[in-house]
Order: sequence, then structure tokens, then C-alpha cells
Amino acid sequence: MDIREAKRIVIKMGTSTLTHKNGRLNLRRMEHLTRVVSGLRNLEKEIVLVSSGAVGVGMAKLDMPKRPETTREKQTAAAVGQCELMNIYSRLFSEYGYKTAQILMTKDVIDHSEREKNVANTIDTLLSYGAIPIVNENDPVSSYELEFGDNDTLSAVVAMITKADVLIILTDTEGLYDSDPNQNQEACLLRMVPEITPEIERMAAGSAGKLGTGGMATKIRAAKMVAIQGIDTIIANGERPEILYDILEGKPAGTKFLGKG
Ligand code: GLU
Repeated sequence: MDIREAKRIVIKMGTSTLTHKNGRLNLRRMEHLTRVVSGLRNLEKEIVLVSSGAVGVGMAKLDMPKRPETTREKQTAAAVGQCELMNIYSRLFSEYGYKTAQILMTKDVIDHSEREKNVANTIDTLLSYGAIPIVNENDPVSSYELEFGDNDTLSAVVAMITKADVLIILTDTEGLYDSDPNQNQEACLLRMVPEITPEIERMAAGSAGKLGTGGMATKIRAAKMVAIQGIDTIIANGERPEILYDILEGKPAGTKFLGKG
């Protein structure tokens, strides 16, 4: 679809976009993001946020020296961090007159059509009240069978459940390069990917950051999941949140993956 016509937009923000390297919230970034998202709402766009950061923020708040390895510690960090995250979102969005709502999901939602419908109905209704739904994985209750594992996959599921027009994944690189830009100065940014072929998947094989869980590979997998439903994905750098305006005005920004359709 013509991205300028996109009405319902799922925006995924990773831990590296929302926090500093020490795990504390990057408040300046969050202020920009909430202002831009509020600006988009003012343009009658329906925005659903998928926000990571719970584990990273909780780690910093609890003074954990490194990313927890045990499930119990990870879940503890998430419980503390999620609360802090929502508190800040709620305060920042309220400055622009917007209400926020928290939705925490586990993977069983997609295995039970009734639960899936409940999530879809709640998000639809929240949007009709002008609220901004903010989704994360329900980390404190997730076990291996229940977890999405990374928020890229979660954002794809949310885009599908809510029948979004487009999925935007904000991260700490410009998009998908044809080779690793950290290793190869000649690496080229791909602007448009009409189809996710095995070659594209090979390009995406990369490493995860210290605070987040996904790398480019999980983002490409997310793009592939939604493409089947005809939803486009844009992977772009969240360092400058105003990039969301560029993307939705159809200006070149990040890498666009076309939905089949
Ligand atoms: N649910 C995790 C969190 O909020 C993030 C998972 C991810 O970054 O992919 O910290």
C-alpha cells in the first residue's frame, strides 16, 4: 500500500532505542518519541506501540551488574522495569493529552482464538477512546513454552492481530545492509526488499546487542511473518524519532519490506 495512506501503525521500539548503555532510560529519546507519536495521533493515525526495555530498565534499577541469566532474575528485572517504563510513558504522553494503556501478552494468545480476539477487541476499543496501547511480553509469567522470546516476533503478532497497515521496527542501525557495516565500510543499505529470500536472510545473520534480545535476524523473521498477511515492514534507526514522520510521508528512510499483496 501507499504508506502515506497507512492508518493503523504498529511501532516497535527496542531496548537500545529506549535506554542508555548503562540501562537507564534515555529520557530525551523517550520525550522525542512520545512527542512524535502524539503528533501522529493528531494526524488521526492509530498507533500501537510495542515497547521493550522492561528487563534493561529493571536491571539498572536493581543495580544488576549484567543481563540476568536465570529466568527468575530476568522476570524480577522485568517486573520492576515494566512498572518504571509505563510510569514514564504515561507521564510523557499525558503532556500531549494522550492516555496510555498497558497490554502484556504471552504466546498462548495466538493459540487460543478467543484470547486473540480479546486482545484485538481491547486494542480496537482503546484506539477508539484515543488511548495509546503499549504492548510488551508478560515477562514475569512467561516460561519457555509461553514466551515469544523477542519483541520483534511479538510486534509481528500484534501487527497481524490488529490488522495493521504497516509495522515499523525502530532499532540502532539504519536498516538492512548487504554485509555487516561494522566489518565492511563498503556495506550498502538496502532501501527496498520486495521479497524475503534466503539470500536476504543470510544478510541478516547478525548479533544481538547487550541490552536487547533480537538481532537483525529476528527483525527479518518478523517482516516475513507479516508480509504473508500483506503488511509492509520498515526497519529504521530510532535514534532520531522524527524518522517516523519521514517514513509515513513516504520519504526514503530505513529498509522497506513489501507485504505480499
Ligand atoms: N520483553 C523484553 C523487555 O521488555 C524485551 C525483549 C526484546 O527486547 O526483544 O525487556
